[in-house]
Amino acid sequence: MNKPTDMKAESVPLWINGRRHAASSSRSGDVTNPATGEIVRQVPFCNAEDIAAAVGAAKAAFPGWRDTPPLRRARILMRYRELIEAHRDELAKLITEEHGKTLPDAAGSVQRGLEVVEFATGIPHLMKGEYSEEVGTNVDTHSLRQPLGVCAGITPFNFPAMVPLWMYPVAIACGNTFVLKPSEKVPSTAMRLAELFKEAGLPDGVLNVVHGDKPAVDALLTHPDVKAVSFVGSTPIARYIYETCAKHGKRVQALGGAKNHAVVLPDADLDFATDALIGAAYGSAGERCMAISAVVAVAEAGDPLVAKLKERASKLNVGPGTGKDVDMGPLVTCAHRDKVSGYVDKGVAEGAKLVLDGRNHKTPAHEDGFFLGASLFDQVKPEMTIYKEEIFGPVLVVLRAKTLDEAIALINANPYANGTAVFTRSGGAARKFEREIEVGMVGINVPIPVPIAFFSFGGWRNSLFGDTHVHGMEGVRFYTRGKVVTTRWPDANALPSGFNMPTLG
Ligand code: NAD
Repeated sequence: MNKPTDMKAESVPLWINGRRHAASSSRSGDVTNPATGEIVRQVPFCNAEDIAAAVGAAKAAFPGWRDTPPLRRARILMRYRELIEAHRDELAKLITEEHGKTLPDAAGSVQRGLEVVEFATGIPHLMKGEYSEEVGTNVDTHSLRQPLGVCAGITPFNFPAMVPLWMYPVAIACGNTFVLKPSEKVPSTAMRLAELFKEAGLPDGVLNVVHGDKPAVDALLTHPDVKAVSFVGSTPIARYIYETCAKHGKRVQALGGAKNHAVVLPDADLDFATDALIGAAYGSAGERCMAISAVVAVAEAGDPLVAKLKERASKLNVGPGTGKDVDMGPLVTCAHRDKVSGYVDKGVAEGAKLVLDGRNHKTPAHEDGFFLGASLFDQVKPEMTIYKEEIFGPVLVVLRAKTLDEAIALINANPYANGTAVFTRSGGAARKFEREIEVGMVGINVPIPVPIAFFSFGGWRNSLFGDTHVHGMEGVRFYTRGKVVTTRWPDANALPSGFNMPTLG
């Protein structure tokens, strides 16, 4: 249960045309501080009218922004980069307050987002086209990339700054305008990021922020002036976004959920692997799309690895994200905490071996917070619910495999394919894993192959619907469309065009 506060919590405004706006919708939701259980804000749930106002502002701003030279757009992004850096701690505090993750983790996620802004400052170079002279006699051809118009972004709760920053800096650098709908559970960071962009010199209407749930999202997906949609969230919603956008003729990239496996081979340095896996499984309370949630221990790696994982996981310091030396904060909401705890019940009922039970964890002085300790299961089988479903909490499951081939087959049969990792000292085994694994992002002795701004980020199968990954050059391609121009400047004696297929030569 959320703890009621004495005072009525303030309502988060919308950001439309460079100003704070009240929503016209009367529907709203609670934003809680997961460490205390208190309602800290109210968030409006926008209706179609609110969405139309934001899209209208973005549409009106588009021609001027499209015609702003990329170099000038880049200079605004450079100032924005400085402002985000200067406000990193303030942004991290907002993230921790509404999401629950620890302050250093929150600051790290701002840094990751900042790197996409840095990438986007290269836009004059990134949007360069190609040119070929004499494709035919006196005929030249060049290609260029142009922005799409109004783009929309719909983002999940687990990275209130980083995931929005994967999207709009690249879209805006390309000359588009943008409407962002952050998760209604963590609405405040996106608002602050929008204000800072205005301070950096972004013209009004280029970036707009709206809030809400399904009706707000549906209004964006069906609005005729929205040309492209980027989505990050759970798989069922990602699939829905992809299908709805396709039906309405929109360009779409929809990143979904994950079940990321780490394979540990018998030759691996088990202390090194354990260290890496503990951070990857339980960091941010397991609420990361790149969290390792399943370990596949190969052959004799199994027993010593499980013993080491248990020892390390049982020592994790669980507490409020603002606390000193805290490893893991609370879950985002009370309902999510209870859902994750329910998965542990299910694992026990289905016969997995519960090596460490985090269900009864108590955080002193934070009895109303949404805390859960670390749980560890061994002897998990592929048909069990705790393996089949994304838990998105501090629960790590260990499966056993006899060989690397068996481990690879298991991972390739899983419907999710966001990230995966292998721990080994063998270059040959690592190379085989890299070649044969059917997953979008792979770590070799790296548990979370983190997003690197100048590469792209995205999974395969049910972890991504669409053709392009986010940011990097894939982001530039997603937010622009190509045009090819063939040019001839005929002299007075040029031959008139005929009716046959021109061959140019
Ligand atoms: P979610 O799917 O519940 O919500 C994501 C967004 O969709 C939110 O803005 C939400 O308001 C909106 N939404 C929710 N229900 C909707 C509906 N019925 N119709 C239309 N819109 C709806 O996800 P979440 O719980 O906020 O985030 C956690 C999920 O995101 C996990 O599954 C995680 O793996 C995934 N995730 C994936 C990546 C990735 O890169 N693949 C990154 C971060 C998070």
